[in-house]
Amino acid sequence: MLRRVLPLLFLSCCHAPAAVPAPEPAVLVASIERELLENCAERLETRCPTPAPVRIAFAEKGIPGGYLGLTRRIGNHILIELDMSHAYQVELDTLIHEWAHAVVLDVKQRESHDAVWGVAFSWCYQAVHGPAPIEPIVPPSCGKN
Ligand SMILES: [Zn+2]
Repeated sequence: MLRRVLPLLFLSCCHAPAAVPAPEPAVLVASIERELLENCAERLETRCPTPAPVRIAFAEKGIPGGYLGLTRRIGNHILIELDMSHAYQVELDTLIHEWAHAVVLDVKQRESHDAVWGVAFSWCYQAVHGPAPIEPIVPPSCGKN
C-alpha cells in the first residue's frame, strides 16, 4: 500500500502550479528595509508632528551631491529624500536626522544643526528607539512652559 501512495505524492508535488519566482536577495532586503523605514516614519509622524505633511522619496541610486538625506518644503508638504544605497542603520539614522529638520522647518533665524534642531533630533530619536510616550512629542517651536 505504501508503495502506491509515495509515487502519487511525488507526482502531485512535481505537478504543483509554478510558484511566483522569489525576488533576488538584495531586492528582498531592500524591500524589507524600506518597509521598516516606512514603519519608523509612521511612528515619527504620530509622535513628532511637523508643520506640513511629510512625503519620503527613497532614492535607490543616491542623491545628487552625495547627501545621505535632504529635507525641503515643496508646495504644501515637506519632502524628505533618503539615500537608500547605504546600510539600514545609516538610512534609519538619516531618516531621524531629516525628520528633526522637518519638525523645526518653520522656526526662523537659526542654523540648520543648532540647539533647536538638536532638541528635535533627540525627541525624534526617542520616538523611534524609546518606549512609547503617552502623548505626542511637542516640537520646540511650540513647546509648553
Ligand atoms: Zn542635517
